[in-house]
Amino acid sequence: MAKKYKVAVPLAAAAVLALFFLLIWSIGNTGTDTEKETKKNVSEQNGKSPYRVCIETGHGIDASGKWDTGCTWQGDEEAKLMIPITQAMTDYLRDQGVYVYTDAYSGNDRNLDVTLDYLDTHDVDAFVNVHCDYEGSDAGTMPLYCTEEQKELARYLNEGVHEAVEISDRGLQKRTDLETLCNAKVHCVSCLFETGSISSDHEVLTKESRAYGEGLAKGLLNYLRERGNDEQKQHTEDSGE
Ligand SMILES: [Zn+2]
Repeated sequence: MAKKYKVAVPLAAAAVLALFFLLIWSIGNTGTDTEKETKKNVSEQNGKSPYRVCIETGHGIDASGKWDTGCTWQGDEEAKLMIPITQAMTDYLRDQGVYVYTDAYSGNDRNLDVTLDYLDTHDVDAFVNVHCDYEGSDAGTMPLYCTEEQKELARYLNEGVHEAVEISDRGLQKRTDLETLCNAKVHCVSCLFETGSISSDHEVLTKESRAYGEGLAKGLLNYLRERGNDEQKQHTEDSGE
């Protein structure tokens, strides 16, 4: 083989390879938003979701090992009434590949103290504590928050619920006295979600528990994805400086 071919052949091969990688790269970067969303869902279903969340069913077995009913009405207990809602929320999130730590499938056996210890020692993106309000309370949802970050999560959760079920809205309420929101062991964003009145909203809380829980799940996912995008934008802006 003449000397000039010895150089030309590897050069041509390199050029073909370069074109090939350029093609692969361009295909990966020209997808529509929907295609990107699908890829994201697939990666999450493959167990590669970037999200880890904690969902607590209000009340249940307390620190002394006793059953704490929460509020009660006509034989129904808050601690039991919330289980189908947190189960539906957990199911939806797990279907999306999200890692969920919860007491929804163990009979509400972990009270807040146990959950707080878990949150203190694990890397969790968000914590949602699901309750309902006593019989004398007004009807409607009432997500509780303390910080501005928590308020944003509360807003997304509330939107998710109101897109899923018919229920009135008592609005977001600021509270500075709740462990879920203020305990030093809670390092992630959190919300105590009051799903409604145990009496006035009894029908939606019981008969539409699945839609309710899925609404909470969708709200939480929307929040996490939106925040994730913000963080990415932030990183991009930072690296450009
Ligand atoms: Zn409660």
